[in-house]
Amino acid sequence: WGAQAGLYTQSDQVVLLTTSTVDSVLFNSSVAVVVEFYASWCGHCVSFAPLWKSLARDTREWKPAVDLAVIDCADSENWEVCTRFGVRGYPTLKFFHAYSSKESTGVLFQVPMRNLTTLRRHIINMVETYKDSWPPACPPLEPASQVEIDKFFETNSVEHLALVFEKADSYVGREVILDLLQFENIAVRRVLDTEEGLVSRFGVTDFPSCYLYYPDGHFTRLRLQMEGRTFFSYALQRLPGVVRSGKPPPLASDISPNNTEMQWKQFNRTRVYMADLESALHYSLRLELAAHPTISGGALTALKRYISILAKHFPGRRVVRNLLQAADTWLQSQEDPEISYKSLLAVLDNKAGTPEAVLPKGLQWVGCQGSKPHFRRYPCSMWTLFHVITVEALNSSISDAQDILQAFRGYVYYYFGCRECAAHFEHMAKESMNLVKKLSDAILWLWSRHNRVNNRLAGALSEDPHFPKVQWPPPELCPKCHSLELGDHAWNYREVLSFLQEYYSANRILLDYLE
Ligand code: FAD
Repeated sequence: WGAQAGLYTQSDQVVLLTTSTVDSVLFNSSVAVVVEFYASWCGHCVSFAPLWKSLARDTREWKPAVDLAVIDCADSENWEVCTRFGVRGYPTLKFFHAYSSKESTGVLFQVPMRNLTTLRRHIINMVETYKDSWPPACPPLEPASQVEIDKFFETNSVEHLALVFEKADSYVGREVILDLLQFENIAVRRVLDTEEGLVSRFGVTDFPSCYLYYPDGHFTRLRLQMEGRTFFSYALQRLPGVVRSGKPPPLASDISPNNTEMQWKQFNRTRVYMADLESALHYSLRLELAAHPTISGGALTALKRYISILAKHFPGRRVVRNLLQAADTWLQSQEDPEISYKSLLAVLDNKAGTPEAVLPKGLQWVGCQGSKPHFRRYPCSMWTLFHVITVEALNSSISDAQDILQAFRGYVYYYFGCRECAAHFEHMAKESMNLVKKLSDAILWLWSRHNRVNNRLAGALSEDPHFPKVQWPPPELCPKCHSLELGDHAWNYREVLSFLQEYYSANRILLDYLE
């Protein structure tokens, strides 16, 4: 489980500073950095860490301009560094503007440390304070004038220019500009309500609101259910032709029905397919488990729990459920401390000839198809299976939240082939899985942890450009799941829960493409 610095790990989107890296990260760098000097034994630091991690997730797209870092001053290796920077209390936040000199000890980042929005806006304040040390990757944040907008396309070749109209004290425009920093083919500028020429030309009446402006002079308002930072950023990142820097634009021809390797199947992106769930079972039970010729101890217990909840809650075809129940009965009756995978396989292949019991062989990806063979597929189907089973368990109420979650945890821990995924999942499970009491909370726990993984993987090489990782469900799929609180995006958990219950419910699963 990768490098760990006291309260933070590598997957927290913060730079973990050490004595040997601190100078290269903070000095003469093209990126501004806000550092949290903390001590892992300090209770206040422990309570602050989740907020710092949320801030890091929230400003993930800003990294090329301004990044977050941490250093554990309780680690004796780091004492000298913390003393050198004059840190006396914990946590101390310090801002290092881009190109800070070796003599710099940073500028105190003085802001109430209670609220994500305040912290995020203070980052912008600090970047703007040090105009002479502007991070080169950071676009202009000051309001645009009419002249600048009129001449924009003379010097820029982007396809879309987004204008955020807002009041002078609003941060939305600057936040959206930073959120789009890593995207190509789009530029974002903020325009103040006092820029009367532009306001009247576009007919702007709401602040904030966002307009798209094109080289031929035409413009359209970005019509969204809510006008706020997350909603603007989300919609702009998904405009046609807008791609994450360094990634080729997805070509329609990538997904081609004539592709000899894969026959592309038409499918509805907003539905769950039984073919994916059955493929998940086949892959997990016949391919992944086969890597374990003998199974004993904790791995055997985990397998029994996993198959037991599949037998109880897999909402599939009757023959498949019969087979899972036969496998469960057989496994539960095994009293030896060790079983061979071969003996389990005989049950999965129904060698005993139980009537009407089959676990179909073969992989048939539909909703989990990827535009390339190395995208999506099995891990996508496992997430889908986990969500479906949890929703199904809530409907049948014969298992409790811990039966379900711990069964997934055990399977992932012992068997899931992506070991890095297993380590991350185990880390999240250790943090809070034991606290989940109700099945409805289990549904939400899985949803929010899946979103954390989505957040970490957005823009990663493993992301299928045709299926970008988003905080899910996006506003177009579930408008009511989203709301604005004090101008910031907030999930409406009650709506998310009812959306998930509907989306993953057994009677909505499509049976297309089943053999
Ligand atoms: P997936 O993320 O697999 O999602 C599948 C489908 O679920 C989506 O198409 C969408 O319809 C729906 N969905 C998306 N988000 C949510 C949500 N929050 N709640 C409910 N439904 C949602 N890969 C890594 O590189 N590093 C990891 O640490 C890692 N950990 C993993 C842990 C587990 C337990 C699993 C099963 C997979 C993990 N993966 C990890 C794989 C990764 O999460 C994706 O599964 C994979 O990249 C394929 O992505 P996808 O685009 O098909 O969508």
